[in-house]
Amino acid sequence: MKIIVVGAGLGGLSAAALLAKDGHEVTILEKNSQPGGRARVYTDKGYTFDMGPSWYLMPDVFEKFFKEFDAMPSDYYKLMRLEPAYRIFYNDGTTVDVSSDFEKNVKLFDSFEPEGGEKLKRYLEQAGKHYNLAMDELIYREYNSLLDLVSGKLITEGLRMPLFGSIHGLVSKEFSNPKSQRILEYSIGFIGGSPQNTPALYYIMNHVDLDLGVWYPMGGIGKIVEAFVKLAEKNGVKIIYDAEVNKIEFKGKKAIKAVTSQDSYEADLFIINADYAYAETNLIDEKYVSYDEKYWENRTLAPSAMVAYVGINNKLPQLAHHNIYLAEDWEKGFDSIFNAKTPSWPESPSYYVNVTSRTDESLAPNGGESLFILVPLAVGLEDDEESKEKFYNKIMKHLEGVVGEPLLGREVTKRIFCVSDFKKDYNAYKGTALGLSHTLTQTAIFRPSHKSKKADNLYYTGHYNHPGIGMPMVVISSQIIADSIKKKMGN
Ligand SMILES: Cc1cc2nc3c(=O)[nH]c(=O)nc-3n(C[C@H](O)[C@H](O)[C@H](O)COP(=O)(O)OP(=O)(O)OC[C@H]3O[C@@H](n4cnc5c(N)ncnc54)[C@H](O)[C@@H]3O)c2cc1C
Repeated sequence: MKIIVVGAGLGGLSAAALLAKDGHEVTILEKNSQPGGRARVYTDKGYTFDMGPSWYLMPDVFEKFFKEFDAMPSDYYKLMRLEPAYRIFYNDGTTVDVSSDFEKNVKLFDSFEPEGGEKLKRYLEQAGKHYNLAMDELIYREYNSLLDLVSGKLITEGLRMPLFGSIHGLVSKEFSNPKSQRILEYSIGFIGGSPQNTPALYYIMNHVDLDLGVWYPMGGIGKIVEAFVKLAEKNGVKIIYDAEVNKIEFKGKKAIKAVTSQDSYEADLFIINADYAYAETNLIDEKYVSYDEKYWENRTLAPSAMVAYVGINNKLPQLAHHNIYLAEDWEKGFDSIFNAKTPSWPESPSYYVNVTSRTDESLAPNGGESLFILVPLAVGLEDDEESKEKFYNKIMKHLEGVVGEPLLGREVTKRIFCVSDFKKDYNAYKGTALGLSHTLTQTAIFRPSHKSKKADNLYYTGHYNHPGIGMPMVVISSQIIADSIKKKMGN
C-alpha cells in the first residue's frame, strides 16, 4: 500500500518507520529542510542546540519502540543517567539538587518537612504501581468508545487511582512544604499543563522523573532524530524536505491526494503528523474535518514559549545540565498562561535553563557553554523582534542574578524563538509549543481521534492524540496507529 505521511516530526518518523517495516511504500512530506519537527537541531559558530525537547524520560518506551525493529536504543545512541537529575533554584535564594540516588532525595524531602522522606517513599510507591497499570491498560491502546476504558484490571485496580481532582490537590494533601510541593508539581510542565488543570492521575510523571530517571543521549536529542531517520530509511521510507502540503484532496470517503506548491502525491492511505488543529483548519475541506473550528477554538492548549539558544565562551559550573528557577508567584504564573483573557508577557516568571555542554563538551567550542533558556508563555501572545528582545534581556538579567555573573553582552551566538516562530516554522496552532494540554476532558478517549471520522484512510499521529505530549508519547501514538492499520489490513 502507498502511504503519505505529512510531517517528519518524531510522530511522523516513527509512524513511517513502523509502516514501512510492515511492507508499505511510505513517503514523508516535510515542510522544513530538516527532520525532527520540534525536536530538530540548530547549530551556529560551533554551538549545538536541541531546539525543543531536552529531557529524555521513559527509556522503557524507546526500548519498546526499537524492539519492533529487533534493535535497541544503544545501537544508535549512548544514554547516560544524569546526576544531578536537575537543579532547582528557589526564589528565596536556596538551591537544591534532585538526585538520581533515591536515598538522597529522601534526605532532601526530610529537610523540607517532618517525615518528608517517608511520605515521598509512600507517594512514589503508589505512583510507580499506577504508572505500570497505566502503561499496561491505558496508554498503549486505541480508544474508539467509552467501553474501551472498561477493561477488567481497570475496573478492579484503576478505581484506586486518583482519577479526579488535580495534581495540586493531591500533592498539597500529601506534602505540607511548598518546596516539596513544587518539585512534585513541576513535572506537569513536561505535559503542558498547570498543577491546577491537570488530573491527579498524572502524578505518575513523578515516578517517571524520580524513579525511572532523567537520561541524556550523548550528542543531544538530535541523536534520537538521527536514529529515527536511519530506522525509517533503512526500512525504505523516502523523506522529501521543503515540501509543505497545502491541501489534502478527497473523493467519496477517501483522501486521495496531498498537494504541495510543486507537486501532488496520490496514495492509498494518509497520516498527518502536522499539528491536528492546524491541519483541520487549513489543509482539509470543512466537509471532511472530524472536529469543527469551534471545537478547536474551545480546547485548552499547552503553552507557547520563548526559547533562547545562547552560546557563551566561558563555563558556568553554577548550573547543572537541567536547571529550574521557580518564581515566588508560582500559581499566578500558571494563571497568566492558562486563564488570562488577553495574553501578556509575564512579569516575574519561572523558567528553565538547559546546559547540555555541562554533560557533553563537544556541544560548545573553546570551553564555552550552550544555553537553552525556556520561559512558558500564553498561546496567542503577539510578539515582534523588539518585544522578544526586551523579554529576553529581562530574563537574562534575572539569570545573571541567579548565577552571580554577567551574561548579557557575552553571547557569541544568540537566537530567540517565540510564539510567532512556532507558528511559522511548525504551523503550530496559535503558536502552541506542545499541542493540546492534558486536562480531564482532554485525556485518553477525550483526545482527538487517531482515525478520521470522515475518511476511511486518514489517520493522525503526534502530540494532539492519545497518549499526548512528549517524545515517548508521540512514539506510542504512532505504535497505536500502526497496529490499528495492521489490524484493519488483516481484516
Ligand atoms: C521547547 C520544547 C521543549 C520540549 N521539551 C521536551 C522534553 O524535554 N522532553 C520530551 O519528551 N518532550 C519535550 N517536548 C515535546 C516534544 O518535543 C513533542 O511532544 C514532540 O516532539 C512532538 O512531535 P510531533 O511529531 O507530534 O510534532 P512535531 O515535532 O511538531 O512534528 C510535526 C512536523 O510536521 C511538519 N509540518 C507542519 N505542517 C506541515 C505541512 N503543511 N506540510 C508538511 N509538513 C508539515 C512540521 O514542520 C514538523 O516537522 C518539548 C517541545 C518543545 C517545543
